[in-house]
Amino acid sequence: MRAGAIWALVLTLLLAWPAAAQPARLALGGSALTEAPQGWWHRLFDPVPLRLDMALDRPVQWRAFLVGDPARLVIDLKGVDLSGQDPARLFGADLAPAIRWGSFREGWARVVVELPGPFRLHQAGMRTDGPETRLQALLVPVAPDDFAPRPSAAAALRNLPDPADVPPPPPRADGMVITLDPGHGGFDPGAQADGETEAALVLTFALELRRALEARGVTVAMTRDEDVYVRLEDRMTAARQAGAHLLLSLHADALPQGQAAGATVYVWNSGANARASAQLALRHPRDDLLGGLDLRGQDDALALTLMDFARTDTQPRSEAFARLLTSRMALRGIGLHGRPVQGAAFSVLKSPDIPSVLLELGFISDRTDLANLTDPAWRAGMVEAVAEAVTGWWRDEGARATLLRR
Ligand SMILES: [Zn+2]
Repeated sequence: MRAGAIWALVLTLLLAWPAAAQPARLALGGSALTEAPQGWWHRLFDPVPLRLDMALDRPVQWRAFLVGDPARLVIDLKGVDLSGQDPARLFGADLAPAIRWGSFREGWARVVVELPGPFRLHQAGMRTDGPETRLQALLVPVAPDDFAPRPSAAAALRNLPDPADVPPPPPRADGMVITLDPGHGGFDPGAQADGETEAALVLTFALELRRALEARGVTVAMTRDEDVYVRLEDRMTAARQAGAHLLLSLHADALPQGQAAGATVYVWNSGANARASAQLALRHPRDDLLGGLDLRGQDDALALTLMDFARTDTQPRSEAFARLLTSRMALRGIGLHGRPVQGAAFSVLKSPDIPSVLLELGFISDRTDLANLTDPAWRAGMVEAVAEAVTGWWRDEGARATLLRR
């Protein structure tokens, strides 16, 4: 009997666990802002009453109240993730001057509906009797003098960001596939300084970047997600097999003290002989990094022509991503190398059919760069910069594809 009770408890905990771990989601398609011209008031007032109806996949803690200047309805929802949901796509969003939402505090989401005049919160409740949980708020227009923001509203908002500051959800890149390629690994630690290895630092960064990109709807393939060695050719093959739209290699190499600091972005340039890239190349087995084009068994001239033809399409797209990347990094105050975009003949960049970019996050040989690379806060900023560049690039790719179809 006692064992049975313990098992019942364990089962209860197991059943409760996934629900508690996963944030609740808003079903945007089942949610709406509508006019509710019911009752006697609709003949007396203009505008008509409004009903906000939000469908959630499970009940959550919530609160709703009005604030003034301008009149707004604020709804706070505990444990709800609204990221990736665009408030402009809520049915009836145009009935309100503005609707914003986002997370405003750990574990809480805030919905702010700017109202087209003074209203009273006539009714608000959460219905859990249907297949979905529905949070409904009925707003009735009132005369300006009768508009009464909740007395405690000011207190409720104190110490919290102003509702107007609710950040918009980050742009998404649904349908995009990216291959992240953390350099080195296994018996090849890459550059080393102060007990840190390039292989471990870029893997940590890649895993953090993967989470951020997946949250934006990007499908992320990895050439490695653990400390193993992967040959350069296999890295490109992995990108091709994943159907990647973009290959992003991540490094944090070393150069002699004082020669290099800050992030640098490399795109393919077969003729590049820049000092830095030549020195980087010397650090790696020559056949591996500067592998050159593998033309065995090919008619050299024909193969080169075919590759150049493919590259006339991919090269500008690689360069476009490189430019977006450096501009997003600059906007976030991330230190850039003196010449942030460079051409290099790194063989991981030589795929003629996949836009490919190599990002040196910094130089492990530089004290500031190494401190940045080991600082989670700095990495979070860099992750955001790269994620913004990826979603921006995907948006531009969509525009380019539309132009090509015309
Ligand atoms: Zn490297």
